[in-house]
Formats: sequence, structure tokens, C-alpha cells
Amino acid sequence: MRIFRDLWWFFKQEKKSYILGVGVLLVVALLEIFPPYVVRLVVDAIEGEKLTTGFLLKWLTLLAVAGITMYILRYFWRILLFGAAFRLGQQLRGELYAHFTRMSPRFFNRRRTGDLMAHATNDVQAVRVTAGEGVLTFVDSLVLGGLVVLSMAVFISWKLTLIALVPMPFMAWAVGRYGKWMHERFLKAQAAFSDINNKVQENISGVRVVKAFGREEAEKRSFHRLSLDVVEKNISVARIDALFGPTISLIVGVSFFLTVAFGAVYVTNGEMTIGQLTQFTLYLGQLIWPMLAFGFLTNIMQRGRASYDRIRSLLNVEPDISDREGAVTRPASGEIRFNLSRFTYPEAETPALHRVQVTVPQGATLGVVGKTGSGKTTLFRLLLREVEGPPGSVSIGGIPVEEYTLSALRSAIGYVPQDHFLFSATIRENIAFGRPEATDGEIERVARLARVHEDILRLEEGYDTLVGERGVTLSGGQKQRLSIARALLLDPEILILDDSLSAVDAKTEEKILESLRKERAGKTTLIAAHRLSGIEHADEILVLEDGAVIERGTHRELLEQEGWYAWMVRRQYLESLIEKGGGADGDEAVARLPQTSS
Ligand code: ADP
Repeated sequence: MRIFRDLWWFFKQEKKSYILGVGVLLVVALLEIFPPYVVRLVVDAIEGEKLTTGFLLKWLTLLAVAGITMYILRYFWRILLFGAAFRLGQQLRGELYAHFTRMSPRFFNRRRTGDLMAHATNDVQAVRVTAGEGVLTFVDSLVLGGLVVLSMAVFISWKLTLIALVPMPFMAWAVGRYGKWMHERFLKAQAAFSDINNKVQENISGVRVVKAFGREEAEKRSFHRLSLDVVEKNISVARIDALFGPTISLIVGVSFFLTVAFGAVYVTNGEMTIGQLTQFTLYLGQLIWPMLAFGFLTNIMQRGRASYDRIRSLLNVEPDISDREGAVTRPASGEIRFNLSRFTYPEAETPALHRVQVTVPQGATLGVVGKTGSGKTTLFRLLLREVEGPPGSVSIGGIPVEEYTLSALRSAIGYVPQDHFLFSATIRENIAFGRPEATDGEIERVARLARVHEDILRLEEGYDTLVGERGVTLSGGQKQRLSIARALLLDPEILILDDSLSAVDAKTEEKILESLRKERAGKTTLIAAHRLSGIEHADEILVLEDGAVIERGTHRELLEQEGWYAWMVRRQYLESLIEKGGGADGDEAVARLPQTSS
């Protein structure tokens, strides 16, 4: 019953549908009492040899009217109750979706996608069924069952009613027991389903790795094991399910047996008419559904409750990063300051960054370099407030990032991450993702800046080509350039390129960065790069190692420091030399080799 209390807010919200729906259900239950009564009148009339055409016609007409009325009313209560239940499903799904969009990446790291999908589909459905079929079975089993028993006792014979009801407690007991077993087994079946769901999802998104490592057979075997498990668990549910029908039939059979045995005696000694006995057996038949419904009800309510609890506990997870009260809503702008003593990820033991102090004046370009894992991305994520550092450690325009609303902060920043993502949509829509109202001219302009325009024109349908999961496959470099175009279209105050040109060749990278410098004059740009040529022009370059700044300065200054940076620059020049296989370009590269090593 608790689930009905928990859902009370919804019943109140939809009170018109529920009051009307339940009202109509009551009328139908009342009408159902009528046909057996007509049968009784007719049987008794036949038996007493008093049946006239007029009598028969009158009652048959009433029977037909009752039948048609029930037909219409049943349609209406279904629409009313199930319609409301569908609205509940929609509302919960909407809440979950909105909630998911508010959560930080940490939330998603800690949960399996398959489980989140299961909450948004199976659990929502279970609650919806409770609010629809659950309410129906509850009202129907109580009202119809009660009315039928009352009619049997009041209109026919309370003695026979008591006798006929003797087996019923067994029915209630059996149904309750089975329901409990069903529920336990059902939970296991659900868990097995969740596992197989995750497996499929993992294997499909990781199909390239599976193939590259020749793991198809092993994965097939493990899938087969999981799928056998699903079958086994579902069969164990079916085993209990299969007990329901036969048990109910047996118990109802005993009830009929007793009714006919005792009823025959009562008819013979004149306590009741044949018509009444017939009416009684018809009512008995009508009792089967409410009894069954009562059994289903425990099941439906248990499932609904478990699902509703899961949904609620998911909705109760507070977003770990959200807007402060009175946060600044004007888009962030101004100089960027990191004044970070240390930052450690919640699950990590060692700090990802420590003692990072840097100021990037408005309009300047900051380059960040360092080995993989040195903390470059973490620095950007702190600025984006995807993760939260100590209060006041990162600020824009003198205001700490946590004092801005998330939308004020993020609308000011264009972030091109390492792992770009294309949606299943056209190229045009992918570029215009952050500004769907952008004109074709604007989209083309940023595509040119990102040096991807020519590539797009070469595709058969140009800007209308579908990409992503359902469309054409683009190369890594093309995807990166599309992501850059996407960020440029926003013309953000602050642009972050997080190793976003790694798959683009050096020449194209240089061209892109050159046009970026012109395009973004006066606006702040942060660039992390592996290829150091990409950040040569930065106003300041930070070299990170294990989360600490080990060198800093302009390109020139760093070369003079003769440290990691200078060594890396030389190494990369030599590498590019080898790539080009000597030749004119190679000579040119040698000529450009930093001379500080002599
Ligand atoms: P980079 O961008 O330079 O490759 P990152 O900023 O991604 O480096 O990582 C810096 C350090 O933080 C690494 O040691 C990495 O293992 C750790 N790290 C990154 N993300 C997380 C996370 N979500 N939880 C715990 N540790 C993390």
C-alpha cells in the first residue's frame, strides 16, 4: 500500500482522471451484478412454466442495454486511468532526463550506462503500471469482489456463500506466497537482463577493440553464458507463473464442487430456486478475476515500490556541482587566474595538480605542455568547473569560477576536448550544435577557419551529409577539425583546445592556428598540445610534470632554459626531419633548429 501513498501527489495532480475513472469502474462493477440476476429470472420462469415472449423480450433488452453500457464505460475507464498512468511515466522520464543533464561527469563515471537506461525505461514502466493497472486491480478486486460476495449473501443465501468461500483463504494464501517467490526470482531475472544489456552495449561500442584483439570467440562465449543465465532466471519466473493458473482453477473447482453439492440439497428442500443456484454459480465465476487480481496486485505494487524507490534515490543524488545562491549570471570574462595549492580527484590518492600559479591576461594565449597524465586536462576542467578545486583557486575576471552560474561560465568558454563527439546528425547540425540558429554563411566561415570546408565539399551531400553512428565515417583529423569549427561558431570569450589537433598534420595545424590567431585577437585562448610547434606563439607556456609547473616562459625563454622543453623541441624537429626524409623541407628544418645547444 505504501506505493499508493508515495504516489499520492500524482493522484492529486490527476484527480479528475482518477475520480472519474474509479467512478466509472464502480458503475461497471454494479452493472456486472445484473446479468446473473436476469438469468435467474428467466430460469425460474422456465421452471415455473411462466415464461412469456413479452417477459423474455423485456429482460433480454435490459441485458443488451447493460452489455452495451459496460462496453462503452470500460473503454472510458481505460482511457482515463491508463492515460493518467502514461502521463506519470512521461513526467518521471522527463525528471530523470533533466536530472541526468545536471549531473557532473563524476556521476556517470561511477554508474553503468546500462543501469541508467534501465532506470529510465524498466523502472519508469513498473511505476506506470502501478499507477494504471495497479489502481485498476485494487479498485476492481475490492469493489467487484465485495459486491459479488454481497450479492451472493444478501440476494441468494448467506449459508451457501460461506460454504463456497471456504477454499478462498487458501487461494489468497497461495497467490500471496507465489507472488513473493515471483518477486524474488523476478529481481534476479532483471539483474541478469541488466548484465546482458551492459555486455551488448560494451561490445558494440568497443567492437573495434574486440576485433583487433581477436576476442570475438571469447566474447561470444561469455555472451552465450550471460544469455543462458537470462533464460534460466526467466524460466524460474515462468515456473512460478505457471503455478498460478492451475492453483486458481483447482481452488475455484473445489468452490464449485461445494456449491453444487450443497446447492442441490438447498434446492431440493426448497430453500432456494434453481434460478438462484444458477445465479450463484455465475457469481462464483465472476469471483475468479477479483481473486486473481488481488494476487497480481501484491506483485504489481511490490515491483512498483522497488522501482519507485530506485528512481527516487537516483533523483535524490544532489548534483555535486551546481549553481550557488546569488551566483553571477553575466557571462564570465576577463583575466584568468589559477592560484592552486593542490587539487586531488575525489577518488585519487595523489594530487593531480599542485602549486599552479598562473595569470592569463584577457586576450592572451596560454600554452600548456607536458607528458600524458601531467595534469593539462585537469587544469582546463577546473576552469570549466567540471571538477571543483579549493574555493577561490580559479577565477575569471576576479570572480572565482564557483561564483558564476554554470551557464554563465560555460557559455563563455568554448571547449574542444581530446575525445570529440559527433552526434547522429548532419555536418551542418553538428557544427551548429551550440548555436542551432546560425546561418549557413556563419557555419561555412568557421568550417573554413578550421580547414575542414574543403573536406566537407568533397562529401557527396556536403554540409547535409549525415555523420555519427548512423552516417559516414570521418577520419580522426576531420572529426577534430569539425569540433574546432563547432567551438569557433560560439565565438567564445575563452577558447580551450585540449590537444585537439593531434590527428591533424603539422602543416594544416599551423594554418589553423594562424587563422585562429587572427580570428581571436583580443580573446583568450588556452592550448594544450603534444606537438610543440602548435604553441610556439603563445604569450606564456607552462610545462607540467606530475601536476607541477617545472618550466614556464615564452618559447624563446624556454629554449634558453635548456630544460625539458628545449630538449623536446629539438627532438620533434628531428622527428619531422626524418618524416620528411631530408629534402628541401628537411634542410629548412635544420636551418630552423634552435641554436642554443652549441
Ligand atoms: P593530461 O591531460 O596531461 O594527460 P590529466 O589532467 O588527464 O593529464 O591527468 C592528470 C592526473 O590526474 C593523472 O595522473 C590522471 O591519472 C589523474 N586523473 C585524471 N582524471 C581523473 C579522475 N576522474 N579521477 C582520478 N584521477 C584522475
